[in-house]
Amino acid sequence: MAQQEYTLVILKPDCIVKSLTGNILTRLSEAHLRIIGCKVVKVSRELAEKHYSHLVNKPFFEDLYGYFSGKIYGADYERVIAFVYKGEDACGRVRRIAGATNPFEADPTTIRGAYGRIIQNNVMENVIHSSDSPESAEQEIKNWFLPDEIVEDIYPVRSVVENAVERRRWV
Ligand code: UDP
Ligand code: MG
Repeated sequence: MAQQEYTLVILKPDCIVKSLTGNILTRLSEAHLRIIGCKVVKVSRELAEKHYSHLVNKPFFEDLYGYFSGKIYGADYERVIAFVYKGEDACGRVRRIAGATNPFEADPTTIRGAYGRIIQNNVMENVIHSSDSPESAEQEIKNWFLPDEIVEDIYPVRSVVENAVERRRWV
């Protein structure tokens, strides 16, 4: 069997505001990957800072946080939908369907090219996040999902006891 890869996909708040969820999942199905984890998440400041640790010190981080948390759209949209996809060349396949970061530069047939735009303060509202490499995917998936929220053990796990209950955590 070909080398299996994992990728974290996040449907960002603008995807939900624009009612594009079904559309985007249909586009992603063209990658012939399998979903092995999925949940709706209200993004905390802490999670946003971990996920975008490479951007935390940029002057636009506050605006990016307002977008990524959904706060700029109001309480009904303070959520994202996160997925773990598995399959051959998962990161590359999803990134190609997603398109370039800047929606104005993205090929118009990609998700970001078709549905993205630049909003106030130059925030790139671009519908979808996807991991740029298997290494980033591992870190990102561990930030977003607990081992038991994924239907396969994709990375090593350890047991911890919390309040007398045994739980599984990533090594
Ligand atoms: N972003 C932005 N302005 C920038 C750079 C990034 O608004 O100048 C946002 C954009 O939504 C992007 C996200 O921050 O998707 C993460 O940036 P990254 O460079 O990691 O791009 P990606 O991996 O999402 O293509
Ligand atoms: Mg990135």
